[in-house]
Amino acid sequence: MKAIVCVKQVPDTQGKVAVKPDGTMDRAAMATITNPDDLNAVEAALQLKEETGCEVIVVTMGPPPAEGMLRELMARGADRGVLVSGREFGGSDTFATSQILAAAVNKIGVGPEDIVFCGRQAIDGDTAQVGPQIAEKLHMPQVTYVTEIQKKADGLVVKRMLEDGYMEMKVQTPCLLTCIKELNQPRYMSVPGIFECYAKPLDIFDYNALKDDPLIETDTIGLKGSPTNVYKSFAPPVKGAGMMVESVSQLVGILNDKHLI
Ligand SMILES: Cc1cc2nc3c(=O)[nH]c(=O)nc-3n(C[C@H](O)[C@H](O)[C@H](O)COP(=O)(O)OP(=O)(O)OC[C@H]3O[C@@H](n4cnc5c(N)ncnc54)[C@H](O)[C@@H]3O)c2cc1C
Repeated sequence: MKAIVCVKQVPDTQGKVAVKPDGTMDRAAMATITNPDDLNAVEAALQLKEETGCEVIVVTMGPPPAEGMLRELMARGADRGVLVSGREFGGSDTFATSQILAAAVNKIGVGPEDIVFCGRQAIDGDTAQVGPQIAEKLHMPQVTYVTEIQKKADGLVVKRMLEDGYMEMKVQTPCLLTCIKELNQPRYMSVPGIFECYAKPLDIFDYNALKDDPLIETDTIGLKGSPTNVYKSFAPPVKGAGMMVESVSQLVGILNDKHLI
């Protein structure tokens, strides 16, 4: 049994956000972190490993320095890493990103009991599209917004968060789950884990490694294969100063004057 976790390295938006003249984020000028929801996805996979002995594989698509993030996740307990990296993949939108990640999951190989984990959403692209799109491309059932996972003999029982409640679902494996922060508390790296992580296997999947997958066509990956691109990126206009009201009757008067009630 395998737990395959898709993890994205993102700019640390808690610090100063660098913006290019065209209004897009200057990723190269910012420190990077592991996408927060993805740490919950990794933790869920590690808990499953403790319960079942499954193998935990962390996968990222990104530039070569993203290897550092994979090593950190191996120091937390993941067994191996896959870095999907190549010029051909650059400029991918969510459609192309999910094509490539789905091909990487295919290359790793999906067995009947396997689970693909994703975070719900990345804090930079912010679309929450990649997990569901990977599931579609792999023809897998998916459950989003997962807050609890129980392994059963015939699949999983998972709890998902709704706006005003929860839903419990049975899902057959192989399946894809997108995880949110309510699922668990991610563990830290351990000292032995830090020593061991550089001895753990890390595969690099470049274009040549994935090109035989039917999902990988030159017109379905990279900038050329991206049907969407950012047309304009801008902050909302700054709101004017607010007004303090002394009483409800004053507020009702103002709303009346403006013909709002
Ligand atoms: C319209 C549009 C155009 C874009 N154009 C470009 C462009 O030209 N150049 C460019 O560099 N970027 C571009 N991007 C950004 C790029 O598409 C996204 O960073 C990428 O597709 C992931 O989408 P997201 O950040 O919204 O992830 P989400 O869908 O919010 O992420 C959900 C989950 O998917 C998984 N995931 C997402 N990305 C990865 C990854 N790389 N590796 C492993 N797991 C992952 C993680 O588990 C993550 O938690 C564009 C994005 C959009 C919306």
